[in-house]
Amino acid sequence: MDCIFCRIVAGEIPSYRIAENETTLAFLDIEPAAKGHALVISKQHAADLLDSVPADLAAVAQMVQQVARQIDAALQPDGINILQNNRPAAGQVVMHYHVHILPRWDDDAVMQAWRPKAPAGLDMNEIAAQIRDAAR
Ligand code: AMP
Ligand code: ZN
Repeated sequence: MDCIFCRIVAGEIPSYRIAENETTLAFLDIEPAAKGHALVISKQHAADLLDSVPADLAAVAQMVQQVARQIDAALQPDGINILQNNRPAAGQVVMHYHVHILPRWDDDAVMQAWRPKAPAGLDMNEIAAQIRDAAR
């Protein structure tokens, strides 16, 4: 097994576990961007959100809320970002579906919001139609 998060699920490598149920696991990020930076994963391997199955997505979403509430109670951050990267172009490094829970404090400058940067002259109607038509 060469997936690092599958190995964490299997207990083959250590992790700072903070919550767990039958289908999901939450543990601290080993290179935290802030105190309490946590990851929630599905125990079943999926490369990313697009590859995952609806039941696991729902279970992860519920665990994200539970852990966010635990972090909120334990560390009292001023805010919390929920982040999720799919594929290297979007910043994904570990190819096992996971969601980041990133506690934030006022003026911590950990992350900047994105700036509008799409090419000029986008036909928004056409883009919306293209995406709608791709529904399966
Ligand atoms: P991403 O860029 O969304 O794929 O994020 C992967 C995250 O996994 C990074 O923030 C890493 O610090 C974290 N990470 C990598 N290996 C481990 C590990 N063994 N235990 C906990 N977190 C890890
Ligand atoms: Zn895996």
